[in-house]
Amino acid sequence: MPQVIEPEQVAAVGHRLHFFGRPGGSDTVSWQYRNQVWFIERPDDGEESRPEAVVCEMCGKTLTYTVHSVEVTRKRIARMRLIGWLLMPVALIGLIGFFTVDQNSWVAIISSLVLFFGGFVGGWMLLKAAGAEVGVTGHGASYPGPTKHLVQLIPGE
Ligand SMILES: [Zn+2]
Repeated sequence: MPQVIEPEQVAAVGHRLHFFGRPGGSDTVSWQYRNQVWFIERPDDGEESRPEAVVCEMCGKTLTYTVHSVEVTRKRIARMRLIGWLLMPVALIGLIGFFTVDQNSWVAIISSLVLFFGGFVGGWMLLKAAGAEVGVTGHGASYPGPTKHLVQLIPGE
């Protein structure tokens, strides 16, 4: 579900409580976070992105994030989606190539596999990152995974 990006909004900065994921149901793992509230004030559209520091209440680390405007955030999301979808045909070319190349040519086979896995994994990660984009970068905030410090928007606040 796409995030709603607004000029001012409340976010939660979470500190991951454990290194390994815990069983969370059928074939899933989950990570627990201790959250603190962060009120994000974005730069106006056309202004430069700016650094904002948040001190983690759990570990005391100063987290300096770069806060982007609504316009820049929407462009980042559009760019990630475009590249993510463009990588899917690359994966398809790799898959087709794997079954059609000379099976005695290791270079052709490995190239096909690199195209397939690189295109699919890269595209999938970018599409997932686009869905999780919050318009804040730094400390893994824009990565779609259980980073040490996680920034999540709180809708409707
Ligand atoms: Zn922390």
